[in-house]
Parts: sequence; C-alpha cells; structure tokens
Amino acid sequence: MGQARSIIAGLVAAILLSSLAPAGRSEAAARKIETTRPPAKCEMPKFRIVVDVGHTPDSYGALSARNDPEFGFNFVLARRITAKLKSEGFAATRLLVTDGKARPSLFKRVSAANDGRADLFLSVHHDSVPDKLLDTWEFDGAKSNFSDRFSGHSLFVSQQNPHFTTSLMLARMIGRQLKEQGLHYASQYTLPVMGRYRRQLLDKDVGVYRYDGLVVLSRTRSAAVLLEAGSIINRDEEMAMNSPERQEAVAGAVAAAMREFCESR
Ligand SMILES: [Zn+2]
Repeated sequence: MGQARSIIAGLVAAILLSSLAPAGRSEAAARKIETTRPPAKCEMPKFRIVVDVGHTPDSYGALSARNDPEFGFNFVLARRITAKLKSEGFAATRLLVTDGKARPSLFKRVSAANDGRADLFLSVHHDSVPDKLLDTWEFDGAKSNFSDRFSGHSLFVSQQNPHFTTSLMLARMIGRQLKEQGLHYASQYTLPVMGRYRRQLLDKDVGVYRYDGLVVLSRTRSAAVLLEAGSIINRDEEMAMNSPERQEAVAGAVAAAMREFCESR
C-alpha cells in the first residue's frame, strides 16, 4: 500500500486546492437563505450531493488491521461514489476533501456543505472497534492490531438535523440497496460492549442508527447521512474493502438509493 498511499497523497493535494476554494457569498448571507429554504426536491442534474471524505491526511481516523489509515480508504471509496453518482445523472455531485486537525476540520466540512447549499451531505467512513476489543498479530514484520469479531457497514443520522426525516429516509434507502447487494450491517452498536459508542438502532432491517452528537450530521443544514462502509480492523473485511468489486457495489447501492429518492419526490 506504500505506493497507493503516495498516489492518494498526490490526488488529495490536488483536490484540496479546488474543494476548499472560498464561497462567493458570506456565511451570514448563506445562513439566512438556508434557514428559509424548503426541504430538498429532487431534479437529478441539479441535486447537490456533497460526498465527504471522512477525516484528513493529518488526522487520518482509524488504522486498519494492516496499518493503513482510514482516510485513504475513505478517499478511494468517496471518489468512486462521486464518479458513479455523476455518471448516473447527478451532475452537481461534489467530492469534499478537508485538511487540518480533526475538530476544526468538522466545522470546515459543515461550512463547505452549507455555503455550497448542499441538498444532501454524505460522509464516507470505515469502521473499527473500541480499543479494549483489539487483538494483536504480526503483519509485514510489525506488531499490529485487529479484531475479527465484528464486520459490516452501518448508517448514522442525527435527530438534531433540520431534515431528520429526509435523512432517515435516505439512510434507509441506502441500507436497503446495500442489503440487496448481499451485504450485512454491523449490529454491534446496540451491545453494552460498545460502551460510549453504543447507539439507538432506528431500522433493524437495514442498520440505521441514531447518532445525535456528530457535528457533520447535526450542524449541516441539508439532510445528512454518515456511512461506515465496512470494518477495516477486521482482517477479511479490510481486504474486501480494498477490492474494486466491493467499492463498486457500495457506490452502486448509493446511486440506486439516490435514484429511488429522486423518483419518490
Ligand atoms: Zn471515521
């Protein structure tokens, strides 16, 4: 993955230059317009989907079972989802890459989505487990952490989001499409072993959880969904998440869900 990592670093540097260009109007003006804006209708070429790459190159999120940073997985998958959405008619879809430290980057993401008048904010992540569940193994000569206990994707929405109902509907549609691809969701978030990561399960059929505390879900003025696409601390699922087939299956599921959403409006 060393070479892949440097390719990703180059691509990220190029995209950062364009994706964080200042917006044409002030934050205050944008807020005024946004708060009076009706819930999104959907005309596919005009529907603004912001596909957010979770974490930053500096603050890269989880480390996989083979010591690759989550940011790289998020970047590759988010780029594929963006390309798929554009090719299926969602021409206004935009990939959002953010730099800097973890917490300020969350507010940068929210500002970028709000200033860009997003209709949907979709944050792309890959999952790990709480530290107490980690086992150790040796990979590539280095002592590494893993946990094969859990696997699967999960979807999160915040009840504090102004478009909670739409967010939940979208998350359910994505969850159903992932299920149709034969993928299963991560059911461990309801278990006591998850401690402070424990969440309320809103849809037990397709794996949508409530997560009010997430800045990117609660502070965005558009509908917002966070997708944990799969577990990279699970040794088998990490390999699956690296495969173009799995990435395409997830991207296809998101695009199919978005088409379904638009047709229902
Ligand atoms: Zn993450």
